[in-house]
Amino acid sequence: MVAIVKILVIEDEPEIRRFLRASLVTHGYRLAEAESGEDGLRQISRQPPDLVLLDLGLPGMDGLEVIRQLREWSRVPIIIISARGRDADKVDALDAGADDYLTKPFSVSELLARMRVALRHARGNGEPEEPVFEQDSLRVDLARRQVFVAGNEVHLTPIEYRILTTLIRSHGKVLTHRQLLKEVWGPDSVFETQYLRVYMTHLRRKIEPEPARPRLLLTEPGIGYRLAAHA
Ligand code: CA
Repeated sequence: MVAIVKILVIEDEPEIRRFLRASLVTHGYRLAEAESGEDGLRQISRQPPDLVLLDLGLPGMDGLEVIRQLREWSRVPIIIISARGRDADKVDALDAGADDYLTKPFSVSELLARMRVALRHARGNGEPEEPVFEQDSLRVDLARRQVFVAGNEVHLTPIEYRILTTLIRSHGKVLTHRQLLKEVWGPDSVFETQYLRVYMTHLRRKIEPEPARPRLLLTEPGIGYRLAAHA
């Protein structure tokens, strides 16, 4: 028997809620709805959903505040759905503990893909299930610390390897510059985004078939990076 996945939508715009209801119920998800952050938090405490879709611009309590409060007691995956154009808002939401974001308007297939990634991470606690990671022409043997591209071993520096394995642990999810810098260089380096850009260029040259047109190490402009999750 397949368990039904329960989604809570926290969104004040009725049209978006209607769109999400129609799309998600068709794909077999169960949907609960909240029109405000306060109501959303109440519903989550009473009946925890498997995943939360959260708007940032809400009447009353702001979406960012919802994330902060929720993260004090819950690890439920949160995907931001926002019309806010400012990258800083998305970065703040991700750094506060949201798992991913989508900018309105978005396609149903994109939404479903992001939801699958977030649910997979929630089940596996973010740890890779296998000691060997494979995606397109890239193969990383995490147990032996070996990296192969199209079958040939590639030598990475310790920093390059740490960037790659950090992205593998969050496979398919976006990581902000701050999150990556903290993981790889430590908490004192969170503002040194130029480090990342330089190392990402080196890493792409080593593992991307076409470094100028990355298929694996994707840039999320103004936000950070994501290791692509191709089907
Ligand atoms: Ca709104």
